[in-house]
Amino acid sequence: MSKSLTGPRARRYRHTKIVATLGPASATPDRIRALFEAGADVFRLNFSHGTHADHGARIAMIRTSEREMGRPIAIMADLQGPKLRVGAFADGAVDLMPGQSFRLDLSTTPGDATRVHLPHPEIFSALEPGAELLLDDGKVRLKVLSHGADWAETEILSGTRLSDRKGVNVPSVALPVSALTPKDRRDLTFALDRGVDWIALSFVQRSEDVGEALDLINGRAALLSKLEKPQAIDDLEAIIARSDGVMVARGDLGVEMPPEDVPCIQKRIVAAARRAGKPVIVATQMLESMISAPTPTRAEASDVATALFDGADAVMLSAETAAGAHPVAAVSMMERIARRIEADPLYRSLVDAQYTEPNQTASDAITAAARQVAETLNAAAIVTYTTTGSTTQRASRERPAVPILCLTASESVARRMVLSYGVHAIRAPDLRTLTDMVAMARSQALAYGFAVPGQHLVLTAGVPFGTPGSTNILRVVSVRDPEVPGSMDPTLAIPA
Ligand code: PGA
Ligand code: MN
Repeated sequence: MSKSLTGPRARRYRHTKIVATLGPASATPDRIRALFEAGADVFRLNFSHGTHADHGARIAMIRTSEREMGRPIAIMADLQGPKLRVGAFADGAVDLMPGQSFRLDLSTTPGDATRVHLPHPEIFSALEPGAELLLDDGKVRLKVLSHGADWAETEILSGTRLSDRKGVNVPSVALPVSALTPKDRRDLTFALDRGVDWIALSFVQRSEDVGEALDLINGRAALLSKLEKPQAIDDLEAIIARSDGVMVARGDLGVEMPPEDVPCIQKRIVAAARRAGKPVIVATQMLESMISAPTPTRAEASDVATALFDGADAVMLSAETAAGAHPVAAVSMMERIARRIEADPLYRSLVDAQYTEPNQTASDAITAAARQVAETLNAAAIVTYTTTGSTTQRASRERPAVPILCLTASESVARRMVLSYGVHAIRAPDLRTLTDMVAMARSQALAYGFAVPGQHLVLTAGVPFGTPGSTNILRVVSVRDPEVPGSMDPTLAIPA
């Protein structure tokens, strides 16, 4: 990574991370850079849309920005999963009239106001007359009147507009499907070959789905399970245990379950993920009205705030940045909300109310102590040195009030850790001794504007170095003045 961007401009002034989905509205080098500068930490590529050529180009653009910015950026490939979608319309969208009939079939002819392609033969045979189909996150509801092996005749119950490739949920029909379709497997291979950092698995129903994906990923990326099926909530703890992170995927969750259930489930998932020490993203419709408007509704601002008060690691933008009219403004708004909420005195007490006691391990004990020492001393940052990310992830689980500097020799670990609460990941050379680490911590904290001379840093490390999960040292150091001769180690340049 280059060293072009350091100093206060290169850091975030918040703990909660922002995930921005790329799409036609945002996939240019200038836009990606603008989204990053506005606050996007993680870029999500939605494999429900676009070609491999599109996604390959976007990955290349993100990596170019990353080099220019000199900061790790995480890329998340979100696999479509067994999501049912209608095909395309001749004019991109149609107006619907409740009460009229609408046909779904296997014909690939572009749709119109009377019919559209539904490319899922297994659905037609599983349908029952009277079953409800929910389209476009429930905005359109159809009732099945009759069906054959390759068609269904329906009545429009509600909804006035439907556009290309909108999702279809059939809550009353159980589909015996794996979380990985043949398309997902092709997309997974492509994404791993291009070096993405996170794979998001859609419509996970049981922990076995996670195991199947882990075998295919084989350690080449971290795995995030999207929780959007009622069945997944029944198996929540086991799914979280096997995943590297989870997403509260409220779009499909809110269609498959009644809306009034979603807030409680969101809180349950965030709390369970925090207990397990795995990053959790709250997603979908967060600033929905900004798809067309330059400012959000106050209710949307309040929804983002709720995710922060719950102590989520990250909040996500979907269509707002992928297809909306104001992608950069949407990220800026998230940034403003996050900074405002995190500065509020109520924020700390609510996040601390969900505090999870450390496990009975030396690593957890040291990490919990580091948090206390840092807060007591009003230290500038907690500094962790990690080979696998696990030490830093434990520090993030503490939800400290001070930032966590994650020093790691691994580019892929640095990128993965970007998603986690409070973590500022920095690639550092292979450090061999605590003395090296102290010096590196000082120079990096200064370089990125986390500390000024005279402030304290709280370090945790595992000695001997290079043994994952062996955190056993806690050390307080003060940052020295680079202007004072001899107070800085001359070997401590920012890593190339
Ligand atoms: P999606 O997932 O945007 O890929 O559908 C998120 C959700 O369902 O909320
Ligand atoms: Mn979904």
